[in-house]
Amino acid sequence: MLVGVAISALVWCNFIVLGTTINSIHVGVYSENGVTPSWYAIKENTGVDLHPVETNFATLSEIDSFGAINLLCQAACSESGISAVFGPNNLVTASAFESVCSHLGIPFISTRWRPRQTKKFETTFNFYPDSDLLSQGLAAIIESLDWDRFAILYENKDSLLKLQDVLKLQEYKQAASKNSIVLEQLDPGWDNRFLLKHIRNSAITRIVLDCSVDKILDVLTQAKEVRLLSDFATSVFLTSLDAHTLDFSQLDTKSNITTMRLFDPSDPFFSDRAGKYLPGQQPEKITVEAALQVDAMSYIAQALKAIATKDPETEVASSPLFCNSSVKYEDKIGLIRQMQETASADSLTGEINLSRGKRETFQLNVIEIYKPEKPIGIWNSEFPDRVHLTRDKTEREAELQKRLENHNFIVSSRIGGPYLFLNPDPETSGNARYYGYSMDLISEIAKIMNITFQFQITDKNLYANLANDLIERRADLAICDFTITPQRREVIDFSMPFMSLGIGILHKKAELEESDNMYAFLRPLYKTVWMYMATLYLLMSAAIFIIARMSSEDWENPHPCDDNPEELENIWDFKNCLWLTLGSITTQGCDILPKGTCTRIATASWWFFSLIITSSYTANLAAFLTMSKMDDSVDSVEELAKQSKIKYGLVQGASTETFFSHSNNSVYQKMWNTMSNEKPSVFEPDNGRGVDRILSTKDSLYAFFMESTGIEYELERKCELRKIGGLLDSKSYGIGMPLNADYRHSINAAVLQLQESGKLIDLKEKWWKREREGDPCPSSVEVDSDALALANVGGVFLVLVCGIAIAFAIAILEFIWNAYNVSVEEHMSFSQALKAEVKFACNLSVTKKRAKPQISEASSASSAKSADKEKSPLRSIMANAGSFLTINTAAMNKLGSSSRLVSVEPKNESDVNF
Ligand code: GLU
Repeated sequence: MLVGVAISALVWCNFIVLGTTINSIHVGVYSENGVTPSWYAIKENTGVDLHPVETNFATLSEIDSFGAINLLCQAACSESGISAVFGPNNLVTASAFESVCSHLGIPFISTRWRPRQTKKFETTFNFYPDSDLLSQGLAAIIESLDWDRFAILYENKDSLLKLQDVLKLQEYKQAASKNSIVLEQLDPGWDNRFLLKHIRNSAITRIVLDCSVDKILDVLTQAKEVRLLSDFATSVFLTSLDAHTLDFSQLDTKSNITTMRLFDPSDPFFSDRAGKYLPGQQPEKITVEAALQVDAMSYIAQALKAIATKDPETEVASSPLFCNSSVKYEDKIGLIRQMQETASADSLTGEINLSRGKRETFQLNVIEIYKPEKPIGIWNSEFPDRVHLTRDKTEREAELQKRLENHNFIVSSRIGGPYLFLNPDPETSGNARYYGYSMDLISEIAKIMNITFQFQITDKNLYANLANDLIERRADLAICDFTITPQRREVIDFSMPFMSLGIGILHKKAELEESDNMYAFLRPLYKTVWMYMATLYLLMSAAIFIIARMSSEDWENPHPCDDNPEELENIWDFKNCLWLTLGSITTQGCDILPKGTCTRIATASWWFFSLIITSSYTANLAAFLTMSKMDDSVDSVEELAKQSKIKYGLVQGASTETFFSHSNNSVYQKMWNTMSNEKPSVFEPDNGRGVDRILSTKDSLYAFFMESTGIEYELERKCELRKIGGLLDSKSYGIGMPLNADYRHSINAAVLQLQESGKLIDLKEKWWKREREGDPCPSSVEVDSDALALANVGGVFLVLVCGIAIAFAIAILEFIWNAYNVSVEEHMSFSQALKAEVKFACNLSVTKKRAKPQISEASSASSAKSADKEKSPLRSIMANAGSFLTINTAAMNKLGSSSRLVSVEPKNESDVNF
């Protein structure tokens, strides 16, 4: 609707300005949404009566250019005519009007943004900042904000023209994986939630919003609803020059919303002038269009006055003009020329110079909506590439600190020792529900930053959800054993590291079963083989015994000097056969050997068998004795990768998994393939479960990739665990924040302060060492895998001790038996005989013994009697039989008598030679 309702009645009055006559100047105003400058105020303040021509322009459809031109032509050909035209907003109609005005030789005045025109009319004057310069200004301002990655939400294609220089900020790297500018068009309807959610999930925290001023609050409210507009994390730049007129308090956000404006409403000059021309309007609510219209009218008035001053004879008045005239009209009163020459310095929007029909001098103030009174930067068209920043770093930080104060930070974390434990007391609430390293760390940071915080546990206690909490603005910070990874850094920010670590392998120490291990020397052969060998040993001894008895060569002359011996002797009784076979299998040999061919063959066969068995046994013995350490023998990640017996896994969906799945190292790739194909799965949801699985898997057949900090913590508490090899990589934990969060510098400064004061080390000591139940694990000495411990061969010693014990037992029995025989032979009591024998045995200086004891001479008689007894009739018969048995008896007698005489002096030379 045409708003320019004349304040006074149409008065055809003349004004005398500087002695020149200026008639009432009729101005055609064609604006769809109304303009509200006070025409009276113009007259009052400039002394020039600009008179609006009433039209029914607002009743026309926006696209009815023909109707609009008709209205213009009607007004122009009226009796009063028109001297200037304030053009419509619609670009198509405006272009048509431009053309008509050019034909009529009257100025066409625009106060709206218009794209660069291909056809330039001399009669056109646009008071709105030139589109090219404005675009440059926008780009310079956005660049000055240091935004490397941002989204542009635009309304229509005009926005793209407005933002063309901003779009040039995009770096088009070849094969760039990511554009630094994301371009999204707002929905023509009112609901943009889906789009805004999409922006949020792309982890974009910087937004340039280019839309009409009446849409801004709607879009921002929806952004808040979808948690895109979160406190301190999101920054929005509003390109509208009218954004400062909006009331953002209803948004209730601490987000950084920045905009720019063409004038400063708090400037006393502005408010004073605005008070005159736009009475009743609050300076901060004055739109750019309103201010520009005031400026335009003042400008025309100024030009008219200048004409009248220059040539007092000229009658400055409107006259009828006809659109259908075949001849183009002249600029009768020279208004166009004068407008080109006029420069106004005291307008509402700053200096105006329209020598080329467009406004090339203007200044933009960059303001933050929560503190609009003080611009943070100033851009001037004179230096289009620069923005003068009005605050230094300290000032910026101080302002931020003030904003941050008492902000309640939402801290996302997960339960997992020693970072965060659940308080067992069910009565607790709020932060008291948790305790641990993370709680202590954020408490220290909060003290430094003077902030408050509230812990929340991330969904399903998963590492992956921590980053999502930040991206989706459910949290301001994420604190736990949160590893800084390149993948995460693309979507969230991290503070400076508060702990360094690397991936290591946690495993269980080998279980040593004492009993098994003591008889480890038996391991090279199966039990059944040992049993077969024992049986074979007996059978072989028996076989040699029989073979030797059958072999004539093994029957020997007991007295080699006697050519015709009465008896032949076979030394291969069963005892000697056992001795021979035992000597062979233990590779010790034997003092007596068979002479018969068949006996030798049998013996040689046994030797061969023994050779193979003992060689195999010896060869395997070392390996089997060290077998108990087999699990320990995996001492590096390469060894773990090579074998398939011990399974290995890691935390699913966390940084260690990313390390393996993205690794270019062939060993890690192989391990990743193995792990991913393992059935049942070797992955665990967290470190705690991983450690439980290591401990519960039998025979130490499960190892777990874990971060060194976690390994250190577990090794302090679970002594049965051990660490395999060194670290696979090197990285750090950091505090997660949404990308480009305003408070990241403050958090960094706090972490640095804690590091410098030694608080970080102290916290680690506290939660890793001091907060431990029970004693620390004894420091374990690494076992040298080549050496055999006594424990490995203890069984051999036991066998030896047992053998000696048995030998002693037999010796004692023999001694007692001998004492008994003596007592019988010497007709004395057993105790007397035993006493005498013990006494003799204890007398260590005596080395010779008589064949008969000294106790009584009667013992000789008894000996003689016993010798006679040996020549009993049965023995004589057997001795004369010439059979094996007879000869054996003789041999037995000989051996028996020699065994009795422990130490006998030789009687003659022949005895010695033998
Ligand atoms: N600290 C790891 C992370 O932030 C989780 C544990 C792991 O992957 O070993 O994802």
